[in-house]
Amino acid sequence: MTPLIIANWKMHATIDETVKLLTEIRFSLNNPDGVEVVFAPPFTALYSAHIALQETNFKLAAQDLFWELEGPYTGEIAGSFLKDVGCHYVIVAHSERRRSFGETDEIANKKVRAALTQDLIPILCIGETDAERKSNQTMEVLQKQLKRDLQEIAMSDLKNFVVAYEPVWAIGTGNNATVEQVEEVHSFIRNTLAKMYDAPTASRIRIIYGGSVKGDNAFSLLHTKNVDGLLVGGASLIPEQFIKICQSKES
Ligand code: PEP
Repeated sequence: MTPLIIANWKMHATIDETVKLLTEIRFSLNNPDGVEVVFAPPFTALYSAHIALQETNFKLAAQDLFWELEGPYTGEIAGSFLKDVGCHYVIVAHSERRRSFGETDEIANKKVRAALTQDLIPILCIGETDAERKSNQTMEVLQKQLKRDLQEIAMSDLKNFVVAYEPVWAIGTGNNATVEQVEEVHSFIRNTLAKMYDAPTASRIRIIYGGSVKGDNAFSLLHTKNVDGLLVGGASLIPEQFIKICQSKES
C-alpha cells in the first residue's frame, strides 16, 4: 500500500500563503515516488491550491464537509463543491471538530456517508483523550467510535477509505504517541475492522497516525507495523519539516 502523507493546515494560510507554501514544497519534492502526498488547506484556498498543483501527483483534501447534498444550510459546504474544486479526500470528525464544534459519532457517520456519496475518500479521525488513556479505556473508546462512525456503511463502500488514529493528547502538544503505542492501537483498529467487515477489507483500509509528527519522528512512525501513513498538522506548515516527513519512507 502506498503510504499516505496528509498536510492538515487547519485555520492557517491565506490564498497567497497557500500558493507560496505549495510552490516551495512542490519545488523540493517534485512529484515524489512511493508516497501519496495530500494537502488540506482551508476551504478558501482550495481552488487556488488545485490550480497550483495541476500536472503534479499531489492531491487535495478538504478539512470538513456538510452531510446534506444541498439546500438552505447557510455557511455549510457540500461534498459536491469539494469535488468541484478538485478534492479527492475529505477529513471527517477531526478531534478539533469533535471538541470545539460538538461533532458526535452520529454526525461523523452522516459525514462519512455524504463523502462516499460524492465519491470523496473520507479520512475518518478517531482517538482517545488523555483521561481515557489514563483510565485504560483507549481500545473501548476507539472501538465505539469505529462502530458508530461506520454504522450501516457497506463493505463495498470501503474500497477507498482512511482511518486516522489521532490520540487527542498528542495533537498539537509536541507529545507524539510512542511507536509501541501506535503499533498496538493500529493492530487493534485493523482487527476491529476485520471483525466488522472481513480481513481483506480491513487490509485495504489505510490506517494512518497523527499527533505531533515532525521531521525527526516521521521515519520511525512510518516504519511501524500497520502504519499506512501520517496526518500532519503543525509541521506541515514548515516546508523543511514537511519535506523531511515526506522523504522519510525512503531515508
Ligand atoms: C492534526 O491536526 O491532525 C495534527 C495531528 O496536528 P499536529 O501534527 O500539530 O499534532
